[in-house]
Amino acid sequence: MDHQLRRTGLASRCTDLSVHAIVVTRLPNVRYLSGFTGSNGQVLVAPAEAVFFTDGRYTEQSRHEVGGIERITYPNGFGGSLAEQCARLGVSRLGFEAHDVTVALLNKLTQKLPGIELVPVEEEVERLRWVKDAEELASLQRAQDATDGGFDAVLEYLAVGMTERQVALELEQLMRQAGADGLSFDSIVAFGENAAEPHHEPTHRVLEEGDVIKIDFGALSAGYHADMTRTVAFGQPAAELKKIHDVVRTSQQAGIDAVKAGVTGGSVDALSRAVIDAAGYGEYFSHSLGHGVGLEIHEGPSLVKDGDDVLPVGAVVTVEPGIYIPGLGGVRIEDSVEVTADGCRVLGSSTRELIEL
Ligand code: ZN
Ligand code: ZN
Repeated sequence: MDHQLRRTGLASRCTDLSVHAIVVTRLPNVRYLSGFTGSNGQVLVAPAEAVFFTDGRYTEQSRHEVGGIERITYPNGFGGSLAEQCARLGVSRLGFEAHDVTVALLNKLTQKLPGIELVPVEEEVERLRWVKDAEELASLQRAQDATDGGFDAVLEYLAVGMTERQVALELEQLMRQAGADGLSFDSIVAFGENAAEPHHEPTHRVLEEGDVIKIDFGALSAGYHADMTRTVAFGQPAAELKKIHDVVRTSQQAGIDAVKAGVTGGSVDALSRAVIDAAGYGEYFSHSLGHGVGLEIHEGPSLVKDGDDVLPVGAVVTVEPGIYIPGLGGVRIEDSVEVTADGCRVLGSSTRELIEL
């Protein structure tokens, strides 16, 4: 496991941040640094060593999951144990995750850690998480494979009269059969005019001949999230929707072609968006182009309009342009890609051309 390497990466930031150690409380970050998957755990990372904390419910689980560092089950709350470890490690300036710690927790820590200066730090672990290591890439690939498998199978299942909810339920089943641990997020299944909503919640709307079917879904594997969208034609949808699919397909390809290490998310968004603008649908592409995926479904780097996140080798990001026309329907095509030095690699294997059922 590379948890030690990841902790070393964070510890090396201490000097720049003028702190002796950083206490990590945000759960996806705790998992990233320690392997712990429970609902309550913290990691104190100092250059010399790291310490993992949890409560009595997780003593046994953390014994299996967290290796190579001291594990502490606190007898009465996190603050007291943290104070002891800070004293032992000579920490008098302690960084905390400002985007996670509540005012109430900060008040408590201030009270429990007299003489220790608490220094807000921002998204340090999240920034490390942009670049995926080999193990993370393998988990993302497994999640993607189960997603592709579920998609292939659900195409066989679609029939007139079934509801969006039924399809969403079946899709979950099919992805689990294809190897998913669970769902990356609640699937979006939208028929016909409902596809005009970018984030439609499945309803009892029944599938009819001539609908488009927009499905945004993904499998979860070892904590890593897949995220894919396909829009398929069921029968003969309105000619404009086929045209829109063509525009979105071209826009997505422009985005995929623009991804490589060293470019900004904003520049990729701009090249993809330009295709939709040129086709006259600019006002109907109402969201940003993409986002990082990993231990969270939405993470950095971001592919947003004017965004200045610079894509590094090893980041995994989505490219997901869409056009949504109220009353008519909509099309989105989304894939995850791994950023390489001179381009990118698409993780999925499902066709991006229009499927006509
Ligand atoms: Zn999605
Ligand atoms: Zn997405």
